[in-house]
Amino acid sequence: LYGAYDDQNIFAKIIRGEASCYKVYEDDDVLAFLDLFPQSFGHTLVIPKRGKARNLLEVDAQNLTKLTLVAQKLARALADELQPDGIQVAQFNGAAAGQTVFHLHFHIIPRFDDAGLGA
Ligand code: 5GP
Repeated sequence: LYGAYDDQNIFAKIIRGEASCYKVYEDDDVLAFLDLFPQSFGHTLVIPKRGKARNLLEVDAQNLTKLTLVAQKLARALADELQPDGIQVAQFNGAAAGQTVFHLHFHIIPRFDDAGLGA
């Protein structure tokens, strides 16, 4: 679970502006953007812009604090805007846990009782 950070991962490219994304929030420390393959309408990813944490185990307290505060802000904004019935906040560590991009991220996934995209 601990290992070398790959500067060529897609989220690192997004942070550097080398790959595009649909931004929903940005400040000096944190970036949030829509997931390219959303599990629901409004599926958003939130990532730290600084440091080289691949996962939750590697992130420092300052970045984690900023990240979780933005995750809460986004959850509230999505709740207000989309009126979902629930919101999942998910986070995977390691390929065995389903992680595919090795730059720390939280998924913010609005969920609707009548499930499905566009629901
Ligand atoms: P993981 O399984 O690592 O927790 O989730 C990675 C997420 O990143 C997936 O939900 C996937 O759809 C999303 N993703 C992968 N590549 C891109 C990309 O190039 N742009 C955006 N916006 N999302 C991506």
